[in-house]
Parts: sequence; structure tokens; C-alpha cells
Amino acid sequence: MIIDCHGHYTTAPKALGVFRDLQIAALEDPVRNPARGSLAISDDEIRESLLGAQIKLQDERGIDVTLFSPIAGHMMHHIGNAITSQIWSETCNDLIHRVTSLYPRRFIGVCQLPQSPLVPPKSVIPELERCVNELGFVACNLNPDPSDGHWKDAPLSDRSWYPLYEKMVELDVPAMIHVSGSCNPCFHPTGAHYINGDTTAFMQFLTSDLFRDFPTLRFIIPHGGGAVPYHWGRYRGLAQDMGRPPLSELLLNNVYFDTCVYHLPGIELLTRVIPVDNILFATEMIGAVRGIDPETGNPFDDTKRYIDQVEWLTGEDRAKIFEGNARKVYPRINAILDGD
Ligand SMILES: [Zn+2]
Repeated sequence: MIIDCHGHYTTAPKALGVFRDLQIAALEDPVRNPARGSLAISDDEIRESLLGAQIKLQDERGIDVTLFSPIAGHMMHHIGNAITSQIWSETCNDLIHRVTSLYPRRFIGVCQLPQSPLVPPKSVIPELERCVNELGFVACNLNPDPSDGHWKDAPLSDRSWYPLYEKMVELDVPAMIHVSGSCNPCFHPTGAHYINGDTTAFMQFLTSDLFRDFPTLRFIIPHGGGAVPYHWGRYRGLAQDMGRPPLSELLLNNVYFDTCVYHLPGIELLTRVIPVDNILFATEMIGAVRGIDPETGNPFDDTKRYIDQVEWLTGEDRAKIFEGNARKVYPRINAILDGD
């Protein structure tokens, strides 16, 4: 089985964007505020939005199932206040639930959290519980920078995050570290802010005792781990200079890297540096990079091709990357995948 652990509903029907535009307009003019639950999208519109897009590519590329979440770049947690974020997150998560209800064998839900800058992270717990317990979702996307490019909130190692981690452990769900768009013009969203977010989260983990406090807490760092695998020697050395334990002990029971790296040499490096047990297959298809690589003639985001080409991976290694590791990191998928 091939499990893609990183997909967003980037082809969501236009009505979703209209809802969000109204919500943003209502920050100035409250009369325009769209009612909670007023999103009008038919089942057919959802089917149409997926059949020629994610589902077509799943079939072409041999992907069985995608862990599917709202558009990361549209989370934009800095907009409005905590209530704005709450209603927007509920709306997006409910739409994902409709996708997973229509196509339960193709898509499994991952939720957006209603974070807001400088609001205690414990405020997102009710929505996480709703998504996991009522909607059957298996994980969440956690934004390490709800200010979207200005890094105003405490690092992920701060105790203010602990109530959320306690809930994640209790529910046995991991979080993918995922920033949203950037409202800081210094950082291009997907080219800089995403990779910064991934790299920054890793360093916050490295300098903290988070996984001593939460031995079973699990994070996926997407986009191949940002700059981390390429600079693994730097991170090992920094940890050593700081008197920290070796990285394998410090965080490799808790931190995983996905394969959203859009060329073969990058995947080769990832699989050379990071243990196979810590690598999860992912494409983030129809996402940040949608073109065809003129050097190969294939889409940049067709990442399965790269993994298939890495010469030193054994059949057992590939089975872990494509399926086994995801079943371990997202244990709630097992009942869904193995159910009737
Ligand atoms: Zn993503």
C-alpha cells in the first residue's frame, strides 16, 4: 500500500474562498460576517474538484490513500482573532470531513487547528478533539508561527504548548509542523517561510527536553525536513557542543521527515542521512510546485518516482517509507485502512 501523508485540498470549490473573503471583509464590516455553517457546496462539486485532480493523480501514480488537510497557505492564523480562526478552521475541517465521507478509501482527514497569535495553544484542544473523536481525523497540522512570518509566539518547547501535547498523546495523534502563508514580505511563503518553519521547529526540538517530557509525542517535519537533512552534521555538532544527547537518542523516536523534496538528489540525500524508519512518503501534490521538470519530463511533485530510483533502498525500506512508518506514526489510520 502507498500512503501519501501530506496532501491539502488545494482544489476546493470556489465557495470556500468566497466564505473566507466575507469573513475577512467582516473584520471591518461585521454585517458581512458569513453565518457559521453557511458554506454551500454540493457533493457533486466536491467530487468534480477531486476527480480530475488528486484522484486522477493518485491513480496515475499508484497512490492508494492520502492524508488530507485544509489548504495550509490559507490557514492564515494571524487574520482576525481567535474566533475568526475558530470559525474558519471548523469550516475547513468540516469540508475535509465531507471529502473523507465521500471517498473513505482515498482520503483520511488531518485537521487545521484554530490557532491565533499570542493566544494560549490550549485553546485549540476542543477542535482537535472534535476532529479526532467526531470526524475520524488522525492528525493535525500545527503552525509553529501563528503570526505568519513574524514569529511572535513562544517556541514549541515552551510549556504553554504542553496542554496541547498532552491531548495529542492522549488521543494518540501526531502533528505535522506546518506554517501557513507569510505576511512578512521578507519571506516568500513556500520558498522561504515553509522551509524556515521546518528548520526552526527542528532546532526548537533539539534545544529542548520536550521528548523527555513526552516520550510518545510525534511530529512530522514536512518538505523533507527543511534544511535539516542537508545540514545534519551541523545539527549533530551543535547538539554535541551544547552537551545534548546524540540526535538519535534526543529526537529520532519522535521526529519524522516526509519526502516532499522535488528532485532525485534531494531524496538520495534524505535517505542517506535520515534513518529509513524516520521517513514517510508524501507528495503535497497540486501544491507549492505544480510544473513539469524539464530535466526529467515528469512533474516535480511526483515524488514516488524518486524513491523508486534510489538504488540502495531495499524492498523492506520502501515498504516502510510507503506504508509501515505511516501506520506507526499515525496509528489511527490502521483501523480505517484495515476496516471493511
Ligand atoms: Zn503542506
